[in-house]
Amino acid sequence: MAENTPDRVDMEKIVSLCRRRGIIFPSSEIYGGLSSCWDYGPLGVEIKRNVKEAWWRAMVQERDDVIGVDASILMHPRVWEASGHLEGFSDPLVECKGCHQRWRSDELEGDRCPSCGGELTEPRQFNMMFKTFMGPVEDDASVVYLRPETAQGMFVNFENVLNTTRKRLPFGIAQIGKAFRNEITTGNFIFRSREFELMEMEYFVKPGTDEEWFEYWLEERQNWYINLGIKKEHLRLREHETEELSHYSRRTVDINYLYPMGWAELEGVANRGDFDLSQHASFSGKEISYFDEGTSEHIVPYVVEPAVGVDRIVLAFLCEAYDEEPDKDDIRVVLRFHPDLAPVKVAVLPLSRREPLVEMAKDIYAGLRKCWSVAYDDAQSVGRRYRRQDETGTPLCVTVDFQSLEDNQVTIRERDSMNQIRVPVSELQNTLAAKLAGEDLFVLPPGGQVWLEAEKG
Ligand code: ATP
Repeated sequence: MAENTPDRVDMEKIVSLCRRRGIIFPSSEIYGGLSSCWDYGPLGVEIKRNVKEAWWRAMVQERDDVIGVDASILMHPRVWEASGHLEGFSDPLVECKGCHQRWRSDELEGDRCPSCGGELTEPRQFNMMFKTFMGPVEDDASVVYLRPETAQGMFVNFENVLNTTRKRLPFGIAQIGKAFRNEITTGNFIFRSREFELMEMEYFVKPGTDEEWFEYWLEERQNWYINLGIKKEHLRLREHETEELSHYSRRTVDINYLYPMGWAELEGVANRGDFDLSQHASFSGKEISYFDEGTSEHIVPYVVEPAVGVDRIVLAFLCEAYDEEPDKDDIRVVLRFHPDLAPVKVAVLPLSRREPLVEMAKDIYAGLRKCWSVAYDDAQSVGRRYRRQDETGTPLCVTVDFQSLEDNQVTIRERDSMNQIRVPVSELQNTLAAKLAGEDLFVLPPGGQVWLEAEKG
């Protein structure tokens, strides 16, 4: 993973911006933090929701062959026997005989402890599922697991979904939800944590068409990132070697992203064959199959699965959007987020805190909030307020000045170009909607004009 990435932003800059602007905090920070757990703050939660909504829109809402579920995190323990996770969901762990730190042996370069150079133990398999107990008695019979993936919630509901929706192959079931993995080593900010959110889609197909669908989904998923602003050259595919395939997989390709620490897995697309449905049929004793009307046969579909962690996407979009440019004697930090991902879409900035300007600005603010997440900022100079919005990626600012009181017009200022136009308040909402949907700033509404006033520092 370690590789020189000269054109990439430093991870420290991203972590510090996230901390400073309320995007992401360490979990339980007042107690010193909890290793590898993170809390999303007021702006972070909006970014995360936007990522999930963009995924759901593309994977479920805009398609008629995919439907969603929301299964519980705790599942019958037999699920994890059938899925192979009890047996096989483990990483090779080694411990340093000197400092007792633990490491994943497959991630180590060399055979000594990276921390103190000490001798390491032989690797042993460490199961990554979190265990807990259901009910008041803590014995073997009450052990349950926090799910390490959401996929099983879709496999065990296959018959329920089929019987209630009458979907025909090929069709998919999608889910977004928390997953937990007791990772041996964590790190790189939110890249690898022990509690994270997964977005998975199980696409059920006729055996024999799986390779074709695999290619289809690999392409679709790359396009999704590119359409939301990831540069094509920052994505790379990595085919898994046969020896490294997960126990359920016939083929896996990772979509890797060029993070600040180097190329690393963003998303995985796997061909799970009929492994999961067959295992659940055999462990539950229930028939799980699909009746093919064409051939009048019961078949067990194959599954193609795009699976991705929300947090890894958030980190990728943060890194991709981060930019710095010279600004007089200073540096302008801009998050060049796609408007769909920006935590705040529009900021309303009154030029002064005096009435009746404030009343007009607050009216505009109240109206726009019905459509989008909107900020109101009246502290310090307007130049500073623009910079604050730039730093968190707000695509458009609306400035209300003294002239607005007379001509009922306001200025719209665009984040990336810093260009401005002036539009009648009656045209404001439609104009903002068009710009957020990608229309060029200089396409003017009736009564609108290009505004040449320079930004006030
Ligand atoms: P890795 O090799 O990085 O441990 P994996 O191959 O075990 O990941 P999968 O089981 O394919 O990961 O999980 C699907 C997706 O879930 C990954 O592509 C990644 O986006 C996300 N993911 C997996 N583990 C974590 C984690 N510990 N923290 C955050 N996201 C994760």
